[in-house]
Amino acid sequence: MNLVLFGPPGAGKGTQSKTLTETRGLPQLSTGDMLRAAIEAGTPLGLAVKATMAKGELVSDETVIKIIAERYDQPDCKNGAVFDGFPRTIPQAEALDAMLAARGKKIDLVLELKVDDAVLLSRVEARIKAGGVLRSDDTPETLAHRLGVYYKNTAPLIDYYRAQGKLKTVDGMAPVESVTVQIADILDAVPA
Ligand code: ADP
Repeated sequence: MNLVLFGPPGAGKGTQSKTLTETRGLPQLSTGDMLRAAIEAGTPLGLAVKATMAKGELVSDETVIKIIAERYDQPDCKNGAVFDGFPRTIPQAEALDAMLAARGKKIDLVLELKVDDAVLLSRVEARIKAGGVLRSDDTPETLAHRLGVYYKNTAPLIDYYRAQGKLKTVDGMAPVESVTVQIADILDAVPA
């Protein structure tokens, strides 16, 4: 099964993807994690995207499409994957559909985690107060910018996937365990 976890920054996509990896054996393909790893490792890709990511802007479609295709062709994705933070634009969604079609596969479901802006901001503020290790783009200012980018570039994908009949919406403001249960119920209802 190929799933897309969809929602604004801070909606909990990463948390739920990790649970899906544990419970369904589907690898988590997070473009954000891949790009951060490239920055950590100081690769040419990392150097190229560092400033863009720190500002909360989107990396080019071409870049993320390439890294996703390379990752998807690894053997652990043979039964599918959970796409987390990708696609983020209509061209990325079209490229994903084409990439999967070329491999005889498709997106089965898109799970939208719905969370109000005020809740997203308060989550980031709580993380800052808790004083954990923060990402360079996890400041209230950058989050506000990332949210703007989300509404402009990414939210149109809701209609793209709704038109394909693949969109399922989950209440992302419920407690983490309850979101996990909502997702499990949706997946369990999919005919094998
Ligand atoms: P979040 O969902 O919390 O915003 P991510 O880890 O998914 O965090 O993404 C962090 C940053 O990485 C984005 O703000 C953007 O700069 C870059 N990025 C990640 N995925 C993509 C993508 N599919 N297309 C373009 N840029 C991306």
